[in-house]
Amino acid sequence: MVKNKKENKKTQTDGGRTKTVKKEVKLEQQLVLQPPRGMRDILPGDQPYWQQVRNALTKVSQEWGFGRIDTPIVEFERLFLRSIGETTEVAQKEMYSFATRGNDRVALRPEHTAGTVRAYIQHGMNVLPKPVKLFSIGPVYRYDRPQEGRYREFYQGNFDIYGEMDPILDAQVIQMASRLLAILGIKDVVFRVNSVGTPASRIAYKRALTRYFTKHKKSIPASLQEMITVNPFRILDAKDEALCALAVDAPTSLDSLDDESRTHFDKFITYLDELGVVYEHDVNLVRGLDYYTQTVFEIVARDTSSQRQYSLGGGGRYDNLIESLGGEPTPAIGFGLGLDRLVLEMKRINAQAYEAPRPRVFIVQLSELAKKKSLTIFAQLQKAGILTAESFGRGNLTSQLRKASRAGVDITLIMGQKEALDETVIMKRMLSGTQETVSQDKLVPILRKALKESIVVKKIK
Ligand code: AMP
Repeated sequence: MVKNKKENKKTQTDGGRTKTVKKEVKLEQQLVLQPPRGMRDILPGDQPYWQQVRNALTKVSQEWGFGRIDTPIVEFERLFLRSIGETTEVAQKEMYSFATRGNDRVALRPEHTAGTVRAYIQHGMNVLPKPVKLFSIGPVYRYDRPQEGRYREFYQGNFDIYGEMDPILDAQVIQMASRLLAILGIKDVVFRVNSVGTPASRIAYKRALTRYFTKHKKSIPASLQEMITVNPFRILDAKDEALCALAVDAPTSLDSLDDESRTHFDKFITYLDELGVVYEHDVNLVRGLDYYTQTVFEIVARDTSSQRQYSLGGGGRYDNLIESLGGEPTPAIGFGLGLDRLVLEMKRINAQAYEAPRPRVFIVQLSELAKKKSLTIFAQLQKAGILTAESFGRGNLTSQLRKASRAGVDITLIMGQKEALDETVIMKRMLSGTQETVSQDKLVPILRKALKESIVVKKIK
């Protein structure tokens, strides 16, 4: 304090230099006290929603026999460029790419599939019985313009299935996504589906789009005109209003589908009817990444009151990707769910969040010896599977009891100097207020019985 005063005095005599320094310190503090734009903390208050989402993902992954895989957040940049495509919006505008100190060009993953496919090939998973099913959860990074529900660091749950061509798989992934949303209580959802066809169909479709957009070149912003020939799907996928209007009359993938693609899509639709999910055939849906073939889909939540729609996830087939990255020809299908969006949607509809198990016992300690012994009792109860709360850092009886009642426990154990010496503990039933002294070596069975009775009492009440 005194020092500060002295410094302030100096301020008046140094011609504003200290002011500048202070400004710099303030700026420095601001930088230190916030994460980079588009990135954020997920605080304990929000974690019950995230936990619910993670639990649902794990449950569904187990129900369909997926194995978990974790791949690095950072991969060589060329892996992403070769898989998602160099001319895609994600590759050109949204990747966090940089050179390492060793001069390797790397990038933060903008999605999970490329890394998972790299791992599949590298670890020879092609010898495993097919289909091989891999599942991952983790952060992904896109240098996008942040707004509500759109971040630069966000989380995806990702499911990939390798080695099966049958369209029943396409329907099964929809069934999985649908089950997941049902577990989370998200009901008002529509699956937008389409087919971009085999690679040959896709080339024909691309040509048709190039012809169409060339005719309408004047309506296309200069920044996207190069894409007319290079990647016309990107113009179709653009969210710009004028381009959406242009897309309405654009040729659709259906016009270019070969017989194989048509049969695949028709069967997929038959299976969707069997599933009874709500779906729409969106003939302009192509999805932003180059590796898609055949079926593509997007999962959209609808807010009927505001007419707004939120994309919760999407995916499709990528039957050529593994071969194009150096693996043996292997058909594949996958989808990713945006976990941040699932959480937002759950909050919007007041869905049930995860409820952590509540502690049933609280230990109060009232002397130095009792505090020491409490550590052993806590460990004993933990081992017996009895969730226990405490406040060992406090010595005061009232404040400990207040914490016990806030924790909503059924039983409080109180140990003073006398009990610590006698190797006993006072067991207080919170509901009735009755208490008895029990020996520490019989504590676990006595507690178990009392807790069982406590459940019955609570039910009757
Ligand atoms: P995509 O790989 O672009 O199809 O994205 C799959 C899902 O990830 C989307 O449906 C969103 O739920 C979510 N997602 C995509 N981009 C973002 C973002 N910038 N911020 C938050 N979630 C996103």
